[in-house]
Amino acid sequence: MLDAQKKQLIESVLREKGAMTNCGRCGHDEYQLDGYFHHAIQESATVAVVAPNEAITTVGLICKKCGKIDFIAVGAVLPADQL
Ligand SMILES: [Zn+2]
Repeated sequence: MLDAQKKQLIESVLREKGAMTNCGRCGHDEYQLDGYFHHAIQESATVAVVAPNEAITTVGLICKKCGKIDFIAVGAVLPADQL
């Protein structure tokens, strides 16, 4: 699970990088961060076979007004020792 300390770290890093912009659907500016999501990677665009041991770990940034979820690749924003 995504603990409170990790949520604070991710939010802080996203704010620092200017990535906490208003919701793309409704314009609201409050979010909640929820759990880790596993996004499997296909072997190719035309064959829906999941590549073994290939995935992107993300967290869900959820708009508190409309529920739109933006997935943030945590490996791209956090230092490797903070994952
Ligand atoms: Zn929204």
